[in-house]
Amino acid sequence: MKVLEHPDLAYSQVAQWRQSGQRVGLIPTMGALHAGHLSLVRRSLEECDRTVATIFVNPTQFGPGEDFAKYPRTQQEDLSGLRELGVDLVFAPSQSDLYPEGYSTFVQPPAAAEPLEGIFRPIHFRGVVTVVLKLFHILPATIAYFGQKDYQQLTVIRRMVHDLNVPILVQGCPTVRQADGLAMSSRNRYLTDQQRPNALCLWKALGSAKRMFEQGQREVTVIEAEMQRILKQEGADRIDYARIVDAEYLSDLQRIDRNAVALVAVHVGQTRLIDNCMLEV
Ligand code: AMP
Repeated sequence: MKVLEHPDLAYSQVAQWRQSGQRVGLIPTMGALHAGHLSLVRRSLEECDRTVATIFVNPTQFGPGEDFAKYPRTQQEDLSGLRELGVDLVFAPSQSDLYPEGYSTFVQPPAAAEPLEGIFRPIHFRGVVTVVLKLFHILPATIAYFGQKDYQQLTVIRRMVHDLNVPILVQGCPTVRQADGLAMSSRNRYLTDQQRPNALCLWKALGSAKRMFEQGQREVTVIEAEMQRILKQEGADRIDYARIVDAEYLSDLQRIDRNAVALVAVHVGQTRLIDNCMLEV
């Protein structure tokens, strides 16, 4: 497995694979890898001739007061996990490799970036789409794999790729969970043993939304109110949102008369957690 820091070298390698007709899969990550990340890697290994993972904690997607400085960095373990799986190339640039002195260009994210996370993390998706577009240029892959765990991110990236005619296929992959339902996340390691049971409030609220929907409830405000109630009851210290929106555009819905998605974001102690589930008609 090659590990490259420099964008030009990484580009040459991936371009050479593409020119020889190989399918290249790309998995962008911020490291601190867990079974969720590895499921994306496995999918690429199955579907592509070459698999490229990236490890970069992207400073431009963290707001002031967010966890950029303390975000877990476990590069040696990450690299051995990726090597074991059979990844061909890891691109792990330094901050100055991607944002050298004088850097000033940013991508304006699509409208789908405005609600939900956009309200609570106003500069987040500007940083995400900028770094992802940079990675798509540096590593001109055939397919890029993203988790549905970050549903709004997946939607925003799909839209950016479509709107800007980026020649890459975006593949969404199912959320990997722990046995009790908690979605795997690099941030779960911030949770103390006392807080860990409370982190299940997201899974419980989404489960109840799904049950109400399956039993025929279609009124968005009714299901949203129940999600709020369960989040509070089951241990959320603060609720950023508990919403049901249109699955494609993330626009408001009153009744679930087309495919929708329920999304929640809460704080458990100092840790901010997000999760979601599809409500398909
Ligand atoms: P991150 O390192 O948090 O930026 O995540 C890198 C990629 O892994 C993103 O596409 C995430 O959506 C995906 N991912 C994170 N957690 C999970 C999970 N539990 N299941 C599936 N994919 C995930």
